[in-house]
Amino acid sequence: MSPLDHHPSFRHAEGLTEHLLRLIDPTDPADPIARQFLSSAAEALSAPDELADPIGDKTHSPLKGLVHRYPDRVLLTPVMACAAYCRFCFRRETVGQPSLGLTPAEMDAALAYIQERPEIWEVILSGGDPLLLSAARLRALVLRLDDLLQVKVLRIHTRLPIVDPVRITEGLVEALTASAKTVYVAVHANHPRELTEETARACARLIQAGIPLLGQTVLLKGVNDDLETLSALMRSMVEMRIKPYYLHQCDPAPGTAHFRVPIAEGKALMAGLWKTVSGIARPTYVLDGPDGGGKRPLV
Ligand SMILES: *Cc1c(COP(=O)(O)O)cnc(C)c1O
Ligand code: SF4
Repeated sequence: MSPLDHHPSFRHAEGLTEHLLRLIDPTDPADPIARQFLSSAAEALSAPDELADPIGDKTHSPLKGLVHRYPDRVLLTPVMACAAYCRFCFRRETVGQPSLGLTPAEMDAALAYIQERPEIWEVILSGGDPLLLSAARLRALVLRLDDLLQVKVLRIHTRLPIVDPVRITEGLVEALTASAKTVYVAVHANHPRELTEETARACARLIQAGIPLLGQTVLLKGVNDDLETLSALMRSMVEMRIKPYYLHQCDPAPGTAHFRVPIAEGKALMAGLWKTVSGIARPTYVLDGPDGGGKRPLV
């Protein structure tokens, strides 16, 4: 079966970009890009330990569009859409539902919540993919965040440089740097083939604007769960000036069991990375539990 003869998912958002379509090798039934983005029959199977809210977002959400788990940093989710939908997404029960994006009034309420809390040092834009906002809307949001004096750092979590790199335009980068605050961008990348020349150019546009890049990877069966692939991915990220930050244990969202690697294997892969790659190419392996207690290092 070709990976393009995929099985439609009726429950979870689906979507692919032209750029990803070009990356998929239709002759390879085990193509690691297809495996991440094309739905499969295995998604219909929900394992008993799987949860709609696997990292406990709900218990820490004071208002729509905010998750406040750690006192000094808050997650703000202006859009719940993505340019392409990862089949293993930890927020797959909410991501892709347009009604979960913030209205202007809901955004006002979220920003007022942040303003009232002097302990919030960092605002993390997540989602969904916050870089799907138009340059004008992103600029307006960044300027409003700039007014919050206690906030020193803006962090943006995105997969756009990988799934649709041409959308990282000069205009979008200018919008990100419209404030005087320090801006970090965390790029989600899972396989060395995702780090194309177009992605390198998108990353360079961000870096040339003074934005440091961090890498986030989800450990995925059949995608990056062997030492050779994982080392190649980490090295490629460093070559593109992306500092590998986290390697995430795949969260138990519904219908994702076929992606999960046992933690013992993940630890063995990390031990392998310690032996084979440069210190700057090593992420921290983390687990984000359903109790909402936050990320814990797996060592
Ligand atoms: C992951 C996460 C963060 C960021 O955690 P770091 O360890 O600082 O990267 C912040 N808030 C929430 C709700 C998160 O899930
Ligand atoms: S980019 Fe992130 S939020 Fe969007 S589908 Fe993938 S894992 Fe989920």
